[in-house]
Amino acid sequence: MPLNLQNVTFTYMKGTPFEKTALHGVSLQIEKGEFVAVIGHTGSGKSTLVQHLSGLLHPDKGSVTVDGVNLNAKNAAAKKARNSVGMVFQYPEHQIFAETVYEDIAFGSRNKGLGPDEVDRAVRDAMAFVGLDFDSFAKRSPFRLSGGQMRRVAIAGVIGMEPDYLILDEPSAGLDPRSRDAVFKEVMALYKKRGIAVILVTHNMEEAARYASRLLVISGGQVILDGVPHDIFTNHKDELLAASMDVPPVYKLADCLNAHGLAVERTPELAALEKQILELRRAKHAD
Ligand code: ADP
Repeated sequence: MPLNLQNVTFTYMKGTPFEKTALHGVSLQIEKGEFVAVIGHTGSGKSTLVQHLSGLLHPDKGSVTVDGVNLNAKNAAAKKARNSVGMVFQYPEHQIFAETVYEDIAFGSRNKGLGPDEVDRAVRDAMAFVGLDFDSFAKRSPFRLSGGQMRRVAIAGVIGMEPDYLILDEPSAGLDPRSRDAVFKEVMALYKKRGIAVILVTHNMEEAARYASRLLVISGGQVILDGVPHDIFTNHKDELLAASMDVPPVYKLADCLNAHGLAVERTPELAALEKQILELRRAKHAD
């Protein structure tokens, strides 16, 4: 059942000289099983949008619902609906506070009202998902871990709440390439196993192209494009440029090769492009 935004408008600092309307009548629907990347220039409204999806901000106009339940109501059904949306903020390791990895990850699922056995199972599952060995890490202080490991603890805390919709705001920011790939590998595994929806806010076009099944392009507080990433990066380049964005480098490289007479297909995967180039070379040598 879907997460739904209906005609949502939101203005910061209303009635002051700093008033800023960050969302203008946004409507969209996200189903479980979708992997949605949200891209847009800084200040376009991405963060405001996902804070509405998770119930942290209330719309001035319009509504946000999960399975038809208004996320912003003050009743038990609304609380349950909000609990079905998990949000991993930017630099989530800054919110780590507990003395042990176990306690930090357990906090969310306890808060959700799970009993001790269920909490224990959720913590173990979440740690397994993010690749932290239970026996080695559960009792350690999260503050003595590496940056990549701390980020995994923070992500595990949200995964432990077993959300149906998982929002990740720039989850790879500040990580080295290896930790970045590891985080995405784990998110993909979770996405595939649990059939949840993943909503990924990113500046990185390559990430959007590689992982998402759907792309939302935000500009000036509106969704200006909504579709399959490959189609948007192929057929809507001008709109992306107009909104101060660009296609991923791997697409640009393919375009450049094509312009130089090397007939390659555009693909989100650098490895797939490399394979095509090697095959062309092999064919040329065979001539
Ligand atoms: P993004 O996540 O795409 O960078 P935001 O949703 O953070 O964009 O911001 C959208 C607009 O709202 C921007 O113009 C920004 O300056 C403004 N804005 C964001 N947060 C606040 C705030 N707390 N108070 C006032 N204006 C804000």
